[in-house]
Amino acid sequence: RSKTSGRGRFSFYDETLDHELEERRLLAIDLRTALADRTLCLHYQPLFEAEDRDTATGFEALMRWNHPTRGNVPPSIFIPLAEECGEIEALGTWAIEQACNDATLWKDCARVAVNLSAAQFRAEATDVVSVVSHALEKTGLAPERLELEITESLLISNPEQVLDSLNRLSNLGVRIAMDDFGTGYSSLAYLWRFPFNKVKIDRAFVKELEDEGKVSLIIGSIVSLAHSLGMRVNAEGVETELQRDALRQLGCDELQGFLLGRPAPNESHEPHVDIDRRAA
Ligand code: C2E
Ligand code: MG
Ligand code: MG
Ligand code: MG
Repeated sequence: RSKTSGRGRFSFYDETLDHELEERRLLAIDLRTALADRTLCLHYQPLFEAEDRDTATGFEALMRWNHPTRGNVPPSIFIPLAEECGEIEALGTWAIEQACNDATLWKDCARVAVNLSAAQFRAEATDVVSVVSHALEKTGLAPERLELEITESLLISNPEQVLDSLNRLSNLGVRIAMDDFGTGYSSLAYLWRFPFNKVKIDRAFVKELEDEGKVSLIIGSIVSLAHSLGMRVNAEGVETELQRDALRQLGCDELQGFLLGRPAPNESHEPHVDIDRRAA
């Protein structure tokens, strides 16, 4: 019996793995045509000044993929897939241009934040600085209104090259934010070397805020470090009033989370014009 179940189990796992690989392969094929198929779009989540719950001063662009047969595929699945199959460059360039274009139509001059992948900074990639400056030129968005979000992992891979790109982006006048702060390896040691305007404290800390006293000490010290380096502090994933009040108390400058606003299509904010459909 044990022999049979052992073999059965082995072949079960094997099949599962095969099945998963096949699923990813199929998904990757569909991802290649997703831009042309117009199944990708950007949703926007509001960013609020900590002291002002009424006005969103910025919006984070979050990519959404509405797959023709599978429905919504989450970014946690398709972004890593796009990175693996080399599609992220095209997707990333589209996201920057679309976000800049959308933002020009916002009456309130709110900022727009766009997430960048490490792959967009690689030497073989189209120079990310040219992509950004081209998008600004094409759409006419003021550089100060664009914010680029990068994660700590990017800084480890090729710090010198990344530093150079970030400095050039910073010289264009765009803002740079460190996303998911506290989840990577480099953390505090790297902060001062790079031209960050903002640090976004990862949702994982905010989640623990109510139950774990030490977390507020950690957030407090991130805030004071960031402030002494001249950076603003955003806290992500604010879901409760208690968290919001605590984060204000701890000196966070900007709050973001389901309590304050969920990601939503651009149409719910301002009239939407698709960048590819504009008259040339
Ligand atoms: P991120 O940049 O850290 O974005 C914040 C994520 O937290 C979003 O997930 C957002 O929907 C979610 N979120 C915001 N507030 C709350 C909250 O109160 N509670 C909870 N539970 N979640 C909240 P989303 O949209 O699924 O995106 C996941 C990640 O995918 C992003 O994390 C980002 O790393 C990546 N991503 C999304 N769009 C793009 C893109 O255009 N380019 C690149 N390179 N990455 C993207
Ligand atoms: Mg982000
Ligand atoms: Mg984040
Ligand atoms: Mg994240």
